[in-house]
Amino acid sequence: MARLLKFANGVFRPLQLESVFLFVTSTCNSLCRTCFYWEELNSNRDLTFEQLESISATAPQFHKLWISGGEPFLRKELAEIIELFYRNNRVRHVNLPTNGLLPQKVESVIDQVLLRCPELTIDLNFSLDGLANTHDAIRGVPNNFEKTLATMDFAAEKWRGVRRLRRNVVTCITGENYAELVELARTIAAETHSDGHYFEVIRGEPMDAALKRLTTAELKVLHRRLIPFHEHYARKLFAHLGQPARSLATAYYLGVVKFHFDLHEQNFEGPQAWPMACTAGSTTVVIDHDGHFRACEMRGKLGRLQEFDFDLGAALGSAQMRQEIAAIPEANCWCTHSCWIYTSRKFSPRVMLFHIPWAYLKHRWSALAGMSASELAPFLVSDAPASLQAGAPNQPAAHSVPR
Ligand code: SF4
Ligand code: SF4
Repeated sequence: MARLLKFANGVFRPLQLESVFLFVTSTCNSLCRTCFYWEELNSNRDLTFEQLESISATAPQFHKLWISGGEPFLRKELAEIIELFYRNNRVRHVNLPTNGLLPQKVESVIDQVLLRCPELTIDLNFSLDGLANTHDAIRGVPNNFEKTLATMDFAAEKWRGVRRLRRNVVTCITGENYAELVELARTIAAETHSDGHYFEVIRGEPMDAALKRLTTAELKVLHRRLIPFHEHYARKLFAHLGQPARSLATAYYLGVVKFHFDLHEQNFEGPQAWPMACTAGSTTVVIDHDGHFRACEMRGKLGRLQEFDFDLGAALGSAQMRQEIAAIPEANCWCTHSCWIYTSRKFSPRVMLFHIPWAYLKHRWSALAGMSASELAPFLVSDAPASLQAGAPNQPAAHSVPR
C-alpha cells in the first residue's frame, strides 16, 4: 500500500525540476565514433569545484543527478561533487556512466559516495558497444572490451550484495554493431553479474555519421530479440519482492521497456509526437562542462551560468529558458532520447496509468507465439494435445539465460 501511495503521489505531481544533467568534465580517454559531444572534448574549460558549489547552493531540490562528460571518473573531485548535490539539493539517485578504463578511480569514488551519501542509490553504467573487436573499433581504444569486463568483474566482487549500487551495461545501437548485439546481450547475461542491460539507438550528430545507417525495420527486429534479456533482468531486480508485488513490478518494468522501444522505433528516422508532452526545461536542465545550460542534450545552448553568477535558480527562471520551454511544443523535435522520455513520462498520468500497461499487454501478445508450454499451461483447455501440456520435455528452464 505504501508503494502504491508513493506511485500515486509521483504520478500526480505538478511540473518541477526532477533531473540535472551535469557534464563534470570534457576530458576523455576514449575516441568514440558514436560520441555526440566529440567537438567539446578535452577543451580544458571545466567548471571549478567552487563554481559547482555556487550552482548547487542556488539550485532547488531535485531527485536525480545524471553525471556526464567526458569520462566522469577523470574528474578529480567527482565524489565531492556528488556529495554536494546530495547534501544541498536532496539528490537521492545518481546515474554514473563510465567507459570502465579506470578501475582504481571507480573503486575510490564509489567507496566514498557509498560512505558519505547513505540514502543515495547509484546506477553505475558501463558502456559496451559490441563484442571485443567491434567495441574496440567503435571506441578507438585497443583492448577496451577486455579492460571494461575486468572492471565489471572487479566491481561485482567488491560490491556484491550492495543493493543501492546497481551495476549495468549500456549499449549504443548502430549500423556497425547491430548484427552482434543479441550475442553481446547473451554474453553479458551469462558471464557477468550485471544488474541490467539497456540499449539506446544512436542519436544526435556523432563523430561518424555512417554509424547511423540502420533502418527502423532492423531496429524493430532487434528490439524484439532483446526483450527476453529484460525479462531476465526483471526477474533479478524484483526477486526480493513477495507476490503479487513481484509480478506487478515485473509487468510494469517490461511495459516501460516496450514503451521506450516503441518511441525509439517511431522517432529513429523522423520526428513523431510522443504520447506525452516533452518536459525539457521544466523538469530537466543540462549543464555543460563549461557552464553553458540547455533544456535537453539535443537542443541548443541557451546561455552561460557565468552570466547569472552561477545562480542556477536564476538561469532556470531566465527569459531564455522561458522562451525555450514555450518553443518546444511547436518545434517538432521529437527524439529517441530515453533520459527525456523517462523524465517526461513520469509527469504524465495518462502514460503512467494507461500507455505503459497497454505497452505491456502488447508485449505479452507479441510474445505469445514464442511462449513455452509451461508458460502456456494456464491458458490451455483440458483436451489440448499432451505435447502442449505443462511439463512437456525439452522446454527451457524458467530462469535460463535468453538466447
Ligand atoms: S562517448 Fe563518452 S567515452 Fe566516448 S568519447 Fe564521448 S565522452 Fe568519451
Ligand atoms: S523531444 Fe527531444 S529534442 Fe525535443 S525538447 Fe524533448 S528531449 Fe529535446
